[in-house]
Amino acid sequence: MSATEGVVIDEAAQKPPLTASVTQITKMLQVMEEQILPITGAGVAKGNKVFGAAVLDKDLNLTLAGTNSETECPMFHGEVKVIYEWSKIVPPSQRGAAAQSSVFLATHEPCCMCVSSILWSGFKEIFYFFPYSVTSAQGIPHDINTMVRIRKRSMMMFWYFCFLLFEVVDLCYLFRLGIPQMMNVSSLTVTVAFCFLFLF
Ligand SMILES: [Zn+2]
Repeated sequence: MSATEGVVIDEAAQKPPLTASVTQITKMLQVMEEQILPITGAGVAKGNKVFGAAVLDKDLNLTLAGTNSETECPMFHGEVKVIYEWSKIVPPSQRGAAAQSSVFLATHEPCCMCVSSILWSGFKEIFYFFPYSVTSAQGIPHDINTMVRIRKRSMMMFWYFCFLLFEVVDLCYLFRLGIPQMMNVSSLTVTVAFCFLFLF
């Protein structure tokens, strides 16, 4: 499938990883220290979490900074909150072009909801400083924990499917041999497998 059909599955067609120079990193750290940190400190004092974000112009000068405001709304992660506030100051007709010429800065690796929000808002360049391993240590990324559980369930479904397939083949074989006792044992195994399938 080509990129023009909507989904890029060709590795070679994907953009190279985004990099930043020392000057750019210094500038973003400065925004974090001088703009994001003070409002995050105030937000944490009100019971919010320690995540902030900012919209910067192409030269990495601050447009708007925001912080986690979950006490106001559960969906107001730092990234979503800053997008919400940014939407208030940028007219709808200008948002696409404004987002595409801006840089989105997040203090921490954005969660599933925030990644979607950032991309749906039109931002193309996104930087974050602290990876999930940092927030994992704080027990925060509920979405990642959920994704891990979904993956585990998917793996279990796969093995149950393999098991059931084996049982179907087994039953066909037993039918051919005409051994009712063994067939009953096999049917019981299939029933137990189905129970596991629906229980987990
Ligand atoms: Zn988030």
